[in-house]
This record gives sequence, C-alpha cells and structure tokens, in this order.
Amino acid sequence: MEKLLKKYNTTPDGLSESEVLKRHERYGLNELDEKKPTPPIILFLSQFADILIALLIIAAIASFAIGDTIDAGVILLAVLLNVIIGFIQEYRSIRAVNSLKDLMVKKAIVKRNNEVLEVDARFLTIGDIVILEEGNKSPADLILIESNDINCDESFLTGESEAVIKEEKDAVFMDSNIISGHGLGIVTDIGMDTEIGKIAEIVHEEDEKTPLAVKVGKLGKILSAIAILVCTVIFILELIQGAGIVETFMTAVSLAVAAIPEGLPAVLTLTLALGMSEMASSDALVKRLLSVETLGSCTIICSDKTGTLTDNKMSVVESYLLNKDKLLLISKLCNNAIIKDNALIGNQTDGAILRFAQNYETSLERIDEIPLDSNRKMMTTIHRLDSENKIVLSKGAPEIILNNCKYIDNNGSIEILDEEIKETVVKRIDEMSDEALRVIGFAYKINDDERPEENLIFTGLLGLIDPPKKNAKKAVKECINAGIKVRMITGDHEKTASAIAKQLGILTDGRVITGKELEKISDEEYLAIADDIQVYARVKPAQKMRIVEALKDLGNIVAMTGDGINDAPALKKASIGIAMGDGTDVSKESSDMILQDNDFSTIVKAIKEGRKIYDNIKRFVKFQVSTNVGAILTIVGTSLLNLPLPFNPAQLLWLNIVMDGPPAQTLGMEGAEKDTMARPPETGDILTKKTLTEIFLLGLVMATGTILVFSWEIYSGAPTEKAMSVAFTLFVVYQLFNAFNGRSNSTKSSKYLYIGLALSFMLQLLIIYIPQLQIIFRTTAIGIAEWTIIIIVASTIIAAQKIMNKVIK
Ligand code: ADP
Ligand code: MG
Repeated sequence: MEKLLKKYNTTPDGLSESEVLKRHERYGLNELDEKKPTPPIILFLSQFADILIALLIIAAIASFAIGDTIDAGVILLAVLLNVIIGFIQEYRSIRAVNSLKDLMVKKAIVKRNNEVLEVDARFLTIGDIVILEEGNKSPADLILIESNDINCDESFLTGESEAVIKEEKDAVFMDSNIISGHGLGIVTDIGMDTEIGKIAEIVHEEDEKTPLAVKVGKLGKILSAIAILVCTVIFILELIQGAGIVETFMTAVSLAVAAIPEGLPAVLTLTLALGMSEMASSDALVKRLLSVETLGSCTIICSDKTGTLTDNKMSVVESYLLNKDKLLLISKLCNNAIIKDNALIGNQTDGAILRFAQNYETSLERIDEIPLDSNRKMMTTIHRLDSENKIVLSKGAPEIILNNCKYIDNNGSIEILDEEIKETVVKRIDEMSDEALRVIGFAYKINDDERPEENLIFTGLLGLIDPPKKNAKKAVKECINAGIKVRMITGDHEKTASAIAKQLGILTDGRVITGKELEKISDEEYLAIADDIQVYARVKPAQKMRIVEALKDLGNIVAMTGDGINDAPALKKASIGIAMGDGTDVSKESSDMILQDNDFSTIVKAIKEGRKIYDNIKRFVKFQVSTNVGAILTIVGTSLLNLPLPFNPAQLLWLNIVMDGPPAQTLGMEGAEKDTMARPPETGDILTKKTLTEIFLLGLVMATGTILVFSWEIYSGAPTEKAMSVAFTLFVVYQLFNAFNGRSNSTKSSKYLYIGLALSFMLQLLIIYIPQLQIIFRTTAIGIAEWTIIIIVASTIIAAQKIMNKVIK
C-alpha cells in the first residue's frame, strides 16, 4: 500500500486542494468526450431539408422565372418564417433537454485533506482517494487499497455477467457497478485514459420516439397522403381548365403546406421538453420525454415507506431492556454511523441507535462484519474481546434476531429462550410496532464459530419513531381523488407498516401481506387478490419485481420507487421507475425519474404536470389537425361545386403560419384544468375515436361555412377577389374561435392564448386593410356587413364544440 500511495504521489488522507488544482491543470478533467452538440447554424440549415420547404423554393423560383416577383417574395418569406419557427422550436427543446442532463451529474465520494467530501466526478484527479460503497459506480479507474468484500459488475467491459471479487491491489474500472461491499481506491486514470474511454466510442442514446409521437406521426402521414392526392387532382383539374402551369403548381404546393400538419411533431417535442424542465424545477428529474407522457396516465404508485413517505429522521423512543449494558455495547459497536458535530453520516437507523448509546464508553477492535442487507434484514460485527475470545454482536429485524437466538441475557444471567419468554418478547414487539415504531432486536454471543449469526443471546429491543412526511397524507388523498391507487412496499415490520399506512390513508379497507405470505401463494392466487393488497411488509427487493409484473398484468400503469441496488430490476420493469436523489447510482440509472427531494408528494406533483401536458398536447393536436382537415374539405368542396378556389397561394401560406404560430404554441402553454386531479387517469391514447370524430366534424363545420359564404358572395355578384378575401378572413377567424374552443378552464396562463389570438387577429386586419399588403395577398377591404356575417358564421364552431361535448361521450 505504501508503494501504491507513493506511485500516485498521494497520502492516506488524500490530496490537498491546492494539489488537486495543480493536477487538474496537468491531467485535465475526468470526462469522456461526448458527441458535440449540433451548432445552431447547422440546426437552422437542417430545417431546409424538408420536402415541403423544397417544393416551396421550387415554386418561388418558378414564379420568379415567369416574372412574378411579388409571389416569389411571398413564398420565400413563408419559407423563412417556417424555417425560423421550426428552428426556434427545435432549439428550445434541445436546450430544455440538455439543461436536465447537466442536473444529472455523476458524483464521487473522495477523501481530501483528511476530510470526506462528495464532489462532481468530473473533478476527480489522479491520486485522489475514492470511497466505494455498495450500489455506486466507480467514478474513474482505481486501484484498491482497501476492500471489504467488494463485488463488481464489469459486464459492460468484459461481457461476463458474473460479478468479480476485488481485493486489495486489484483494479476497479470506471463505470463498473459495486454490487456489494465497500472499500477505498486510488484514482489511477481519468477521462479518456480509462479503460472505458480507451475501448469504447461512447454509445449515444438515440432520442427514441414516444408512443404519442409515433401516433401523431402516423396521423400526419395519413393526412399528408390525402393532401397530396387532393393537391395532385386539383393540379390536374386546373391544368385541364387551362390555368398557367406555374400558378397551378404554386397553388398545389401552398395547399399541401396548409393541409399537412408538418409543425406537429416539433410542437409535441417542445411541449414535452418544456414539461420536463417544469418538473425538474419541482425536484422531479425526468430522464426521458417518454416518461413525461407516461406519468400523466399512471394508475398506481408503489412507494417505499422509509424516506419517501416518512422523514427518515429516526429517534429511539421506547426500549425493552433485558441487559441494558450489553444492548448499549451492541448499539455502539454493531453500527456504521458516524456522528460528527451533530451531523450524521450513514444510515438513519444506525444513527438513532448510536445517539441512544452516546454516553456509553467502549473500544473493542472490529475484526469482521457481515453487512446489513435488505434480504437478511440484520447486521453482525465481530470484535476482539481479549487475547483468546471474540464477541459477535448482531442487531436487526426483531423477529429475525429472535429466531436466531437460543438464550436470553436477563441482567447478566443467561437462560434458555423458551416459548414462554419468546411470547412475552413477541408481545412487546407487537405493541411497539402497533405504535408505528420501527423495532430493532439486539443479540450477541461470545466466541465466533462457523455460523456467527446463530445460537445468539437475546438482550432486548429498541423502538424507533420515524414520523410520516408532512405533505404525504395530503398527497395520498390527492392520488385517491385522481383515481390513482397508492401501495406501500417496505422492508419494515407488518404492524409498523400498517400503523403508518393507516395514518397516511394508504391502508383503508384493503389488506396487508408480508413477503413470506407472498412467497407462498401462486401467481393466479396473487393476481386474484392483488387489487386488495394495500401494504406489502417485510418484502425482499426481489419480490418487488413480482409485484410490478402482477400489477402490470392487471392493466395498470405502475410507478414504483426504489433506492437500493436490488431495486434496479423492478425499477426497470415498472412503467415509471422512480429513484431517490440520495439512492444508489445503479437505481438512478435504472429509473425513468429521480426524486431529488426523496418526497412522495413530488411524484404526485409530477403526475399532475404530466396530466396537464397531456391535456395541452390534446388541445393543439385537435386544433391543428381540425384546421388541416377544414382546409382540405374546403378545397375539395369548392372543386366539386365547380367554384373557383377560395384561397390563393399567399393566403394559404399565411393560414399555415396562423395555424402553426401563436394559437397552437399558446395552446401548449395552457394551465392545468381545474379537475386535473379529480378525474380518473386516461389510457394514454390521445387520438381516440372520439377525438378523431370531433376533429373531422370541426373541419366539416369550417369547410361548410366557408364554402357557403364564398359561394353566396360569388352568386350575389361580388368580384372573385372580394369573395376570396371574405372566405379567407372567415377561415382565419374560424381558427381563432377554434383555438378558443381548446382553452383550459384554468385561470392560469390563458392570457398567453388571448395574446396569441389578438396578435393573429391584428395581423389579419393589416393584411386586409393595408394597401401594400393588399397587393401582396390580393385582398380587398371588407365592410361591416361582411364582418357581421364572418363573426356569426365563425362562431358556429364554438356552438359545434359545445354540442359535441354533450352528444359525443
Ligand atoms: P424500508 O423498506 O422501510 O426502507 P429497510 O429496508 O430500510 O426498510 O429496513 C428493513 C428492515 O431491516 C427494518 O425493518 C429493520 O428491521 C432492519 N434494519 C434496517 N436498518 C437496520 C440497521 N441499521 N441495523 C439493523 N437492522 C436494520
Ligand atoms: Mg429502504
């Protein structure tokens, strides 16, 4: 070890801060080269790589070629606006997602200047002394100078799934998972010099498409196909009727632009990404866009008790002391917590027990430890008593400790633990547990043997209180109102768990099951009662997997929390795996969301946000697609009726901007509906038959109104240009009213929508009344009579929505 310390020029106390700074300069930061982000200019240019944009540019060139500079200018302007809108949306959503990545920095625990610190893993340097703990990832390449049964998962390097035992002087590579044990290592290599940096091009997670994006994409394709068909037919018809080829081409292309919801995927991603940053600001870090979507449709939350529903600030409030002296000895020595300046480092249960034994003086050298694990639910340490004897000290779940005891220590006299005494102890355990206390049992024996945790001598119990979190009860109630079931899953005693679950409103008319009982029943039996089980007590982490699977089989969208290394598979399996901010790296990696504040009520906040986002997506999808349908139906209708086309290319392009622009954007920013958390979860399908029917009918109403007004203008002898101006304005006002249809009933943030609508309306007035714009858009001023008709006809879309709300269920 001396040699190793010398080789890396460091000490057992770690490096000094000044030395760390020096080494940063020499060796750089501990970072793997990531793919460089796309520069904004490339992102901007990539917006041009789009068929519609290409067609528009061709149309612009064509109209320029035949000397129609105004139209060419209009089209180029439309291209530019479309590109700018697309660019801003994409840029904003990339930024939102990236800022989250920054929040998810890797941490490392190091010893520097003889102090233990948690630092950003990027700032590790060669010679740093790193502390490794179960469930963490190695933050750099290390060489071990101390190992307490460290088991490593190196499968990502070797492909070998079996864990590797690491002893002193063994290397532990960056990113390998510490499955169990703990120890110390010296950093030997950092950044690109590490094994993983050397061998692997870092695999970049491709942005996967969310189910919603896939569905919206499909709908877009269907609409595009219809639009292209209609455009082609119109193109041919117009040509047959002898219109100029360039003009007709322009009309067809503009129509396609107006009828295809090309902006939809971008608005969708942006809305999800903004939702992600909103959630992050309330301490819920969502790792993937997909989960924002899933959260809104969550039907059941399986939550840990300790630390998530309770404060995890424990203190001893009751005791049952058979031999107080021995119990204090065990409390003090069979304990891994450190209390320094009143601050606790380590496990809360250990901390409370250590505080209880604060004034007890003892110093026996620890020679071995069988660490606490969530399966055995106990821990044991072995100490040197004197030159010949060792002493074994155990503490843990009281019934488990009791089962491993053969004797009791009654104030120094050792007696056989018979059934009668056992009953008295069990009664005490039950009494304390009923008061919601976490009960810990204590035992010891002199002399270590082959089976250190058997034939122990029982010495007593401590009862620890761990009060429920302040907001937890309210949050549970909110879930129940929102049709979301809440289940408690805990390693704690069934009575303790039940008592807390009752206080929180989680245990009402359902039942409690223990891990042991769960083990005994078959899958069929379990599925039959799963709905009724509200509390799972004394479960082993592996059983969480079975619980998730069953609940999913019953058709639930399951959110499950976890913090330990053994929770990882269940977190992966859950629809939404939720890790704790102070949980293990492995659990964080396997999860979809990280609760920075470890608080149950944050899950509920995130679900509410998810539901709001879901509603907003529904709003703008409905708005945009019904406009597209309306445009297609209007054009088809006028063609069938042998009328001239009601919109010219410039007008169609303007319509497109109105639709993708302010109204759609602001619909994505609406506040939560008043009843967001007072209705059952939705299945996650936004494009239901109901919505599709509504979209079609809304489009039909717009098309019918526009065609009627347009043909009436034509037949009553208005010049075509005038009739078109009226039809065009009517169609725009239809959109504004339709956006109004989509607003939420919340008082919050609707002002954006009103501003968006007012802006669009004012621009429309400019287009109709400003002479220069009249030339560009080929519009004429329209009078009071027409405005009256426009307002009355356009408001039918609001009536139509109201009627549909009543009729279509
Ligand atoms: P939870 O699921 O509520 O987080 P834990 O997994 O932390 O429960 O604990 C499960 C059980 O393990 C506890 O009820 C207790 O009996 C035992 N236990 C927890 N912490 C310790 C400890 N530090 N020492 C001994 N036993 C412990
Ligand atoms: Mg726990």
